[in-house]
Amino acid sequence: MDKIIIAIDGYSSCGKSTMAKQIAKALNYIYIDTGAMYRAVTLYALRNGMLDNHDLNEAALIAALPEIKVSFSYNSDLNRSETCLNGENVEQEIRGIEVSNHVSKVAKIKEVRAKMVDLQREMGQQKGLVMDGRDIGTVVFPQAELKIFMTADYKIRARRRFDELQAKGDSTSYEEVLANITNRDMDDTSRTENPLIKADDAVVIDNSEITPEEQLKIALTHIYRILDQK
Ligand code: C5P
Repeated sequence: MDKIIIAIDGYSSCGKSTMAKQIAKALNYIYIDTGAMYRAVTLYALRNGMLDNHDLNEAALIAALPEIKVSFSYNSDLNRSETCLNGENVEQEIRGIEVSNHVSKVAKIKEVRAKMVDLQREMGQQKGLVMDGRDIGTVVFPQAELKIFMTADYKIRARRRFDELQAKGDSTSYEEVLANITNRDMDDTSRTENPLIKADDAVVIDNSEITPEEQLKIALTHIYRILDQK
């Protein structure tokens, strides 16, 4: 059967990666989490003193870009791929609130985006790919056969992310999670470089009131319609 590229974009914490993983599993496709890549670059900036309080030393980060290698390694015990920064597995660290609070500032930088987009296109050379992010259907793979734009009520998104963090033993408050989500949405939609916008030909899925199983069913209906036409 022909393979396709599925691009999933949308707001912060609205279940893009949950759906991307569901689809990848159902179709035996590769899944690439592009947010993790921007998070890894942010962790590099934090570790190297380029983020002081709220100020980012853009020039220093741009100069360091050739030293920053982001990759994924497969963890067969957990059956998932994990993010590496210069060969070190940083999967846990990039999910914390500190990286979350700074990542949109890093993701605004043109040079950072250019490097990540090149890498994402390289990773997606062969089809049979589900990639999620903010600019996948608009910039990285505008030719993707299926584009999904995900959204959900912001309070529901914050509650889900808060519950997820609590389950992992993270003590970040609900208010902090809510502020992080709304600030990132604002930054991601208003930036000049590759802002988050719905591609004209994207299918919108609002998952405020539906379960992960229901959202997968909706996505698969679109996928099989496209595959049937091939
Ligand atoms: O998807 P996730 O929430 O992990 O993404 C973290 C951040 O990375 C986003 O808030 C956004 O600023 C940035 N990002 C981006 N473009 C992408 C993926 C993520 O700008 N394709």
